[in-house]
Amino acid sequence: MIDLVNINKTYPSATPLHVLKGINLHIGEGELVSIMGASGSGKSTLLNILGILDNYDTGEYHLNGTLIRNLSETRAAELRNRLIGFVFQSFNLIGFKNAMENVALPLYYQGVSRRRRNELALEYLRMMGLGDWADHYPSEMSGGQKQRVAIARALIARPKIILADEPTGALDSHTTQEVMDILRRVNREQNMTVIIVTHEADIAAQTDRRIHIHDGRIESGAFRG
Ligand code: ADP
Ligand code: MG
Repeated sequence: MIDLVNINKTYPSATPLHVLKGINLHIGEGELVSIMGASGSGKSTLLNILGILDNYDTGEYHLNGTLIRNLSETRAAELRNRLIGFVFQSFNLIGFKNAMENVALPLYYQGVSRRRRNELALEYLRMMGLGDWADHYPSEMSGGQKQRVAIARALIARPKIILADEPTGALDSHTTQEVMDILRRVNREQNMTVIIVTHEADIAAQTDRRIHIHDGRIESGAFRG
């Protein structure tokens, strides 16, 4: 599903920052993996490259058999919408849209009718245990509820991969476990590839493989088994 060969990334500036230093990584379909590492080690940079939100300088990235390199923004967006669902620490919900509208949004970009969008959004909210919250706004919801809305939004377009950057970083321990249970269930029941960036060992312990990144290099877990 994901193949990285010798990926390098430098942020240019007066003193250029070499953030990813020859990353080799393979993640297969249906895997549940975590990416661990200290703050500043390059986790988000790596996840942004995986999600085609950012470019790399050298190496090769194949996603679902497609070489991801020098894509036009249109082509990148098309692949993102089709293949990837994102979950962020800060939820990134739209404040002036209710839960149902937030979840339905990816389908708008696919040209799905409003009626069908809302129908599916309700279905996904129910799957997340939020059937009664469809017409509530993010400001009326707890952190855990907001993250479940964000997960429903990530899933609704039926992506092949969920990329989650510290999805429990803003949650208390009880809610953290709720969100982890959902991500594990999605992985198991939908054979969804799930990649979770975290610096919490007890989160990583709940994934099937732990990828450790240190100072831009993968120390362990780059390959399965
Ligand atoms: P992590 O997610 O592991 O905390 P990041 O990938 O966000 O690490 O950042 C790795 C390093 O790159 C950090 O030193 C960070 O300050 C730097 N960095 C991240 N994004 C940018 C950017 N857009 N421009 C310049 N430097 C950046
Ligand atoms: Mg980060």
